[in-house]
Amino acid sequence: MIISMKELLQDAQVRRYGVGMFNTFNVEMALGVLEAAEELRAPVILGTAEALLGCCDLEACYSLLSVLAARTPVPIALHLDHGFAEAVVRWAIDIGFGSVMYDQSELPYKESTSNLKKMAEYAHQHGAAIEGELGHVVFDTLDDTGYAYTRPEDVSDYVDRTGVDALAIAIGTAHGVYWEKPVLDLERLRDIRAITSVGLVLHGSSGLSDGDFRNLVRDGIQKFNIYTDVSFATSQAAHDWVERHDRCIERVSVQMRAAAKDAAMAKLRLLNCAGKA
Ligand SMILES: [Zn+2]
Repeated sequence: MIISMKELLQDAQVRRYGVGMFNTFNVEMALGVLEAAEELRAPVILGTAEALLGCCDLEACYSLLSVLAARTPVPIALHLDHGFAEAVVRWAIDIGFGSVMYDQSELPYKESTSNLKKMAEYAHQHGAAIEGELGHVVFDTLDDTGYAYTRPEDVSDYVDRTGVDALAIAIGTAHGVYWEKPVLDLERLRDIRAITSVGLVLHGSSGLSDGDFRNLVRDGIQKFNIYTDVSFATSQAAHDWVERHDRCIERVSVQMRAAAKDAAMAKLRLLNCAGKA
């Protein structure tokens, strides 16, 4: 069943668990994640991102995800991750995504907060939740070196100015593959958690240790964005099957779905979300 993001993140905060947000753009990844959620009785978030729209356009993706989520017996929220263009974020809200991230984290503070405020009004008018990012979590695939830790002293002002329902924070993680073990600033997380009641979001969850996940749930992250690990597991399964067996696409598809399920399940087990649906 489809659930609102705000309701889901509030429940996660009260009952102290983390919710996995999985970006998907094909039926194999979506079904794999949903099978994992159903088996563990865990609520999850299914998403797609502006950067993935070359793989599956936004309307087709929403149609797929919403049909699959509606018939799944555990709560599923639908989310657009990393919308950079105003038009894309508005489009996602118009189509029916219950939650959007409007990423203006590379802009100066004033411009970023004023853009978020405008979009938050639009989202709320349409019954959608909105996520903003304070500080900046870098992307490994882009020439992006501007890491900026979230400063706890900015949090109240940012949330008040923008009206965001969820806040992505920078506490040491990065998008994509880690070349060095990330060092998480949990004290910063605890400081931020003490200041605000909005749902806190961690980007760059792939590659963290099992202990990292448990500490992050304990210290107050509600939403964990996980893409790289599930994406790699899914494509590795396709590659291995083709190399060792055959190239019939329907049999490759079955392997991909099973791999996506296993990879999602391994992460969900660390978030204390099993049985919370
Ligand atoms: Zn991200």
